[in-house]
Amino acid sequence: MKQYLKLDDWSVIEEDFNPEHHEISESVFSIGNGHMGQRANFEETYSGSSLQGSYMAGVYYPDKTRVGWWKNGYPEYFAKVLNSTNWIGLKVVIDNEELDLNIAKVSNFVRELNMKEGYLKRSFTAELSGGKKIKVATCRFVSMKVREAGALRYAITPLNFDGELTLTSYLDGDVKNTDANYDEKFWDPVDETVSNESATVIIKTKKLNFHMASTMINEYFQNGQKVTPEVKVAKREKYTSQEVVLPLKQNEETSVVKVAANVTNRDHDTSSLGEVAQRVCRSAMEKGFDRLLSEQKEAWAKKWETSDIVIEGDVSAQQGIRFNIFQLNQTYTGEDDRLNIGPKGFTGEKYGGSTYWDTEAYCLPFYLSTSDQNIARNLLVYRYKHLEKARENARKLGFTKGALYPMVTMNGEECHNEWEITFEEIHRNGAIAYAIYNYVNYTADRDYLGEYGVEVLAEISRFWEERVHFVNHKAVYMMHGVTGPNEYENNVNNNWYTNRIAAWTIEYTLEALAHVNETDPKRYEALINKLDLTEEETSKWSDIIDKMYYPVDEESGIFLQQDGYMDKEQIHVSELDEKHLPLNQNWSWDRILRSCFIKQADVLQGLYFLNSEFDIETKKRNFDFYEPRTVHESSLSPCVHSILACELGYREKAYEMYLRTARLDLDNYNNDTEDGCHTTSMAGTWMSVVHGFGGLKVQSDRLVLNPFIPGQWNAFSFKVLYRKARLNVQVTKEQVVVRNETDEKVDLTIGEEQFTLEGKEEIRTAMKK
Ligand code: BGC
Repeated sequence: MKQYLKLDDWSVIEEDFNPEHHEISESVFSIGNGHMGQRANFEETYSGSSLQGSYMAGVYYPDKTRVGWWKNGYPEYFAKVLNSTNWIGLKVVIDNEELDLNIAKVSNFVRELNMKEGYLKRSFTAELSGGKKIKVATCRFVSMKVREAGALRYAITPLNFDGELTLTSYLDGDVKNTDANYDEKFWDPVDETVSNESATVIIKTKKLNFHMASTMINEYFQNGQKVTPEVKVAKREKYTSQEVVLPLKQNEETSVVKVAANVTNRDHDTSSLGEVAQRVCRSAMEKGFDRLLSEQKEAWAKKWETSDIVIEGDVSAQQGIRFNIFQLNQTYTGEDDRLNIGPKGFTGEKYGGSTYWDTEAYCLPFYLSTSDQNIARNLLVYRYKHLEKARENARKLGFTKGALYPMVTMNGEECHNEWEITFEEIHRNGAIAYAIYNYVNYTADRDYLGEYGVEVLAEISRFWEERVHFVNHKAVYMMHGVTGPNEYENNVNNNWYTNRIAAWTIEYTLEALAHVNETDPKRYEALINKLDLTEEETSKWSDIIDKMYYPVDEESGIFLQQDGYMDKEQIHVSELDEKHLPLNQNWSWDRILRSCFIKQADVLQGLYFLNSEFDIETKKRNFDFYEPRTVHESSLSPCVHSILACELGYREKAYEMYLRTARLDLDNYNNDTEDGCHTTSMAGTWMSVVHGFGGLKVQSDRLVLNPFIPGQWNAFSFKVLYRKARLNVQVTKEQVVVRNETDEKVDLTIGEEQFTLEGKEEIRTAMKK
C-alpha cells in the first residue's frame, strides 16, 4: 500500500482526500478517553464506504454464538463491543444540496490527529454542483477531563457565493454492528426528548440491560459572534435532531459547537440517566469549547509527562512510537477496574472489544512503567474478580479443580468459540500468572501476593496439575492436545512454551505461598483454609516441576515448539515467493497447519518471559532457528523478536522488527487496519524501545538498563516510573544519561556498572561499543 500519511513528530496527517483508504484513516485517526471513543467518521453525511463506530467502554452485547458444528464447552455468546449512539452527526445542506465528500469535488483536504494535545482536526474545500465552493474546518475530541463529554466545532465558509445553510445536528442511536451474527440491531429505544436547548436519546441493549443516555447541546456562531437561530426539532425512535437555517455570506465563517454527554448505567442509576446526561452536557457546554480544549491539552500534557518517548533523527520512528503511546493512553486509563484493553481499543469492532492474554503478556509492562502503580494493579484485580468464573470455566470443560481463564472475555465468561483456541490455547493461564510475578517484581508490592495473587496462582496451578498427565514408561509429565501462542499449529503435543509456563507457574505459586507464610503466617493459614490446599497437592506440584517433559532436539539443542515440529518440512520464510504472504490471506488453513511457518513468538515468547533462566547461547540458538520460520502474522510477534534481537546484538534485525511493530497501523503492514488498530500490540512497540533498545529489566530489586541505539537514530529517551521514582533515560551514541526527576533513590545497573541514583541526581556513563 502506498504510504499516504505524512511524517510528523507529534501528529498523524493525511493530506489530500484518499477515499480508497478512508476506512483505514477512520481507524488510525480514532479518538478515545478510556470511557468512550470513536472511529474518525466524518461529522457530515458520507455515502462512500465507511465503518461507523462510536463505542462506550464496558458496554457490550452477548451476541448468540454462531458456529457450523457445536462442540460441548462452547460458550453461548461472543461479547461484542457495541457501536452506540452517533453523537457527532451533522447534516449539512447548502442551498438545498447536501454536503457529501463522496459526491463533492474535494480539495485542500487535511486531516490531523494531534497526539500531543489529543484532538482530531480536518479541513477541506468542497465544490458543490454549480461550482459553489465552501471551506470547512472541524475539530473534535472526547474529553480526558470530563470523561463523559465530547465536543466538536464545525465551521463553514462559503468562498464564492452567498447562500443558505440548513444544518441538522442529531443524535442517532439507531445504529448497528457490522459483525452482528444474526444481522440484528442490538439497541432498543427507551426515550427521546428534544427542545430548542438540548436533545437526548436513551437506548438500551436488547440483552443485559445496558442503558445509555446521550444529550447534545448546540451553539451557533457567525463571524465570531454567537447567534440564536430558530430551532426546528424532530424526533423518532432512537433519534433526535435540531435543525437551524442560517444565511451564509461569502468569506464569512458560520460554525456550530456541539457538545455531547454519553453516560451509561454502568456508572449511574438507570432511572436518572437522562438527567445525568443533561447535567454533564450542560456543565460541559458552560465551560465552552475553548476551555474544554485547553483542559484537554493539559490532561494530555500530563500523560506525556510520564509516557513520552523521544527519538531524535528518525521522524518515522518518532511518529510511530508516539502513535502507539497515544492509542494506549486513550484506550485504557485505569481508573475503572471493571475495564480492560480490547485488541482494537475504540477503533473497530473486530475481536469483540474483549480481554485477551494480550493484556497480561503485552500491555501490563507499559502501564506499569508509565502510570500510577494502581493502574497496573487494577488490571490484575480484574482477573482476581473473574476467578470464580474461571473456576466455572474449568468445570465446564470437565476439570474437577482449578481455574482456566477464558481466551476472550468481557465479564469473566469465555466467549471464544473455536475449539482449537477456546479449549487448547490454555497457555493464556500462564500469562495471567506471569503478570502477577511481573507486577510484584517491578513494584515490590509483595503484599499483593497475600491479598489476591496467591489465590489466582494456586487455582491456575491446580488447573495445570490436572491438565498434565504422567507417562509411566518415560516417568515424565506431558501435556497433549494444545495450541501454543503460534496459532498456525493446533492440537499439538507438548508445546514447549505451554509446558514451561505451566511448570513455571507452579514454581512461582510455591514461592509465593512460602513468601506469605514467612511474612504473614495468619494470612497464610487463612489462605490455605480458603483454598483448601493440602500438602498432598503441593507435593504433587513439586513432582510436576521435577518431571515436566520439555521437547528438545538432541542434536541442535533447540527447544522444540512441539513434539512433531522437526518432522515438518523445514523451509525459511525467505524462500517463499512474496506473493504467498501473508499466508493467512493466501493459503488454505490446511496448508498453514502442515507447514513449519510460525505466526508469532512461541518458544521465543518463553525465552522473553523467563529470560534470566537461559544463557545467551541458548537464546541465540533458538532465535536463529525460529525467527527465519516466523511470518509475524500476529501483530504481537515482531516486538518479542525485536527485544530478543537487541539482547543478542542483532541490531539490524532488532530495528527491522521494531519498524514493523511501530508503524504497523500507520503503514497498514498487515493489510487489515480498516478493521481497527492493533491496540494491544502497540504496548509491544513500547516494550521494543524500553525493554529492547533500553534493555530495561528489574532484577533483584535493581533497575537494569542495557541500552543500544539503532544506527538510524541520533538519540532516544524515555521515561519510566519505577517504585515512586520517575526516571528520564537518554541514550545517545556516546553515552547514557539517567536523570532522577523525583526525590526517591533508585538502585540502578547500567551495563555492568552499579549505581545508587539519589533524588534529583543525574548520572552519565559512556555507551559500550
Ligand atoms: C493472536 C493472539 C491474540 C489475538 C488478539 C491473534 O491473532 O494470535 O495471540 O491474543 O490475536 O490480539
